[in-house]
Amino acid sequence: MEKIRMTTPLVEIDGDEMTRILWQMIKDELLTPYIDLNTEYYDLGLPKRDETDDQITVDAANAIRKYGVGVKCATITPNAARMDEYHLKKMYKSPNGTLRAILDGTVFRTPILCEGISPVVSRWQKPITIARHAYGDVYKNTEFRVPGKGTAKLVFESEDGTVSEQTIFAFEGPGVLQGTYNLDSSITSFARSCFSYALSVRQDLWFSSKDTISKTYDGQFKEIFQTVYDNEYKAQFEAEGLTYFYTLIDDAVARVMRSQGGFVWACKNYDGDVFSDMLSSAFGSLAMMTSVLVSQDGCYEYEAAHGTVQRHYYKHLKGEETSTNSVATIFAWTGALRKRGELDGNSDLMAFADKLEAATLDTIASGTMTGDLAAITTLENVTKVNSLDFIRAIREKLEASL
Ligand code: NAP
Ligand code: MG
Repeated sequence: MEKIRMTTPLVEIDGDEMTRILWQMIKDELLTPYIDLNTEYYDLGLPKRDETDDQITVDAANAIRKYGVGVKCATITPNAARMDEYHLKKMYKSPNGTLRAILDGTVFRTPILCEGISPVVSRWQKPITIARHAYGDVYKNTEFRVPGKGTAKLVFESEDGTVSEQTIFAFEGPGVLQGTYNLDSSITSFARSCFSYALSVRQDLWFSSKDTISKTYDGQFKEIFQTVYDNEYKAQFEAEGLTYFYTLIDDAVARVMRSQGGFVWACKNYDGDVFSDMLSSAFGSLAMMTSVLVSQDGCYEYEAAHGTVQRHYYKHLKGEETSTNSVATIFAWTGALRKRGELDGNSDLMAFADKLEAATLDTIASGTMTGDLAAITTLENVTKVNSLDFIRAIREKLEASL
């Protein structure tokens, strides 16, 4: 078989630990035998980030801006223990944070559904994608421990010197206080990413907040979403037969539980933090969750939602066998290849992505899986395999379908 050609480079971002090992296996077994891979490679492994003072991360983000599509392996976010382990010059910021800031994007997380791995909520038949606004609110707060009796005020001094002042609370005794903020520009860009993404996957979009209680703050989120929808997306949504609606966060939660899935749920920062963890555990496993960062101007970066699986890596280093699930990383590649194919009009590349996904799901459905899935599957008589044998089993199915 002749290898599939690619016209435009895909930005390939390598990472750390066990996922770096899987990355190479996936390329060797599932990609390079069939595709003449045209990638621009950025090594975001921690040693390279340290060597370049993290410039490599900035370069990778700019490459995604240039080419429009990237695929990323999980990376270590350094903490004190990692500083010692890797003898780092400094405690670099989270690479995902840096990429998100440069791309000004939103992260969409989607579970991978497959036969034999059932969601806890039995009504869910299709994936629910969650979009989290990753800027501001409680994550950029200013907090104060109120020591005792006194008055808390909200004061804003505008550039021209006008001062607006409101009393928050007259404390009679000790308590706590916090200030949070957000920006129209960030909310607008979040809204655009959500509408564009929903259109690209042809699904309805839900947005929820608590505007009955927070009339000005959450009210502004609601208002911006509605304005962006009416002015920029309504016609396209209607043409595609898609719906956008806003509802209160409590109503959204109730509806999500009763739904069959198959929509995009946009959440404010804190709601998205909490509900993405709820959805990923309810759908089965973090190892079966993909993630895509979408900028408002339509650049896409695909990755697995899990981390570098450090515990398995240390076993691997000791020469012990691992059974690490590569599904989310494989789907990061297929997502990126399909998008590259879509943008380049390369239908062979798109068809390959579909076949690789089908081969992966088929492997699990026919009873061959890694340990994390073997522990939760509803299938009987399954075979638990090691990291490489799982990928090789997928390759067998893939070969048969090509
Ligand atoms: P993790 O890598 O997600 O792994 C936590 C545990 O979840 C593992 O020990 C394993 O459980 C299970 N698990 C996760 N992915 C799995 C897979 N593919 N197959 C099988 N089991 C899997 O989280 P972590 O150990 O807390 O973090 C390790 C490093 O990842 C950290 O340095 C962190 O900074 C980084 N991280 C990166 C990203 C990213 O790049 N997007 C995201 C999160 C964390 P068992 O050990 O019980 O088998
Ligand atoms: Mg969380």
